Amino acid sequence: MTIPRVGFGYDCHRLVTGRPLILGGIEIPYKKGLLGHSDADALLHAIGDSLLGAAGAGDLGKRFPDDDPAYKNASSVRLLEHIRALVGKEGYVVNNIDATVVLEEPRLKDHIPAMTDIIARALNVDRDRISIKATTNEGMGFIGKGEGIAAFSVASIIKRQD
Ligand code: MG
Repeated sequence: MTIPRVGFGYDCHRLVTGRPLILGGIEIPYKKGLLGHSDADALLHAIGDSLLGAAGAGDLGKRFPDDDPAYKNASSVRLLEHIRALVGKEGYVVNNIDATVVLEEPRLKDHIPAMTDIIARALNVDRDRISIKATTNEGMGFIGKGEGIAAFSVASIIKRQD
């Protein structure tokens, strides 16, 4: 018998000058970057939170406190690998991820294949189990004004039980 579970994750970070824009584990050329204690990769944080949620293993903020110097400028790819190990310890493997980044600019289309590769490798799954999408906020609200970038993720994990 296979036991499936799903989890949901959300994250957003403020866009500021003087920081690199890191999303999905890659640096994207842009005039601003995301502000945060770690690399502020909102997409990987949303995915990580959805995986922790699916495993009933708490949330990113509790597991990786942003006042912990260990995570200052930390790569969120390492964070995601760590979360995959936590989920694995509970006996689960990642089934699939579906995530959406909401941002006004830059356009992510050309970067999504590289992001997908990095996420698939970090989670130890084939790339066809990782879906990354991007959309704008039609000029509305903080995202529309270019003040920040948000990401949403749904994760499905499975455990085999005989
Ligand atoms: Mg975050």
